[in-house]
Amino acid sequence: MFVWRDVGGVGFLTSTLLDVAHGFSTRVGGVSPAPFDTLNLGRAGADGRENILENYARFCAAVGVSRDALVFTKQVHGDSVRSVGQEQAGEGLYGVSPACDGLITDAGGLPLAVFSADCVPVLLYDPVQNAVGAVHAGWRGTALGIVRQAVAAMRDAYGTDPADVWAAVGPSIGVCCFETRGDVPDALTAAWGALAAPHIRRDGPDRYHVDLKGLNAALLTSVGVAPERIDLCEDCTCCGPKRYFSHRRDGVRRGLQAAMISLSRN
Ligand SMILES: [Zn+2]
Repeated sequence: MFVWRDVGGVGFLTSTLLDVAHGFSTRVGGVSPAPFDTLNLGRAGADGRENILENYARFCAAVGVSRDALVFTKQVHGDSVRSVGQEQAGEGLYGVSPACDGLITDAGGLPLAVFSADCVPVLLYDPVQNAVGAVHAGWRGTALGIVRQAVAAMRDAYGTDPADVWAAVGPSIGVCCFETRGDVPDALTAAWGALAAPHIRRDGPDRYHVDLKGLNAALLTSVGVAPERIDLCEDCTCCGPKRYFSHRRDGVRRGLQAAMISLSRN
């Protein structure tokens, strides 16, 4: 179950399944002006870097992770997953991140962050090998199966058994608002066949609705993550303008949500 939390005025979501420091940000509790209002965790651009750094300070304090140790993805809608350690601490806000859409680590106190404004953020936790992961999956990443790559990368790097993994599929565009033409269902069906079918609804000639959250949960299940260990957020970013930034609804002049996860310091 996802629960709304308010820590010092910062509103965010956590999953009751993940027994580790983590959070999915919302618009609530930051300092940025419109159209980035208010908790914009994107890169500085039209919104100033001072605002971004203050928003990060507030969100990281609320979640209980170190802002200055953050590691970021540099998202390209691919399926590359990067294993990171203490040598990457701080790369997020103060360095340059190589292109990747997923991060994994077994280093304590090293928070991983992925970004979204409709795409699906997925956080992973293996309490047995003590490892975490963070994944960004839009429809392209979903077609590439990046959540499966992340579980496989945790297995290869840390010996993770998928049966030990807990997963939280965070707020993203819902089937209500993710209307597409045929290209999206075609790509998902070509990649996943029968696994994709229950998550695609045809509403007319060249008009579909796609449930990306549901398909990502199915992809996790297909590699051995137990369904009862997967938490699925019901919130649609596009339907919820008070809580969420949405690319579909607002275009490019908007803020960005972040999902973060961190093991305790070793
Ligand atoms: Zn919606």
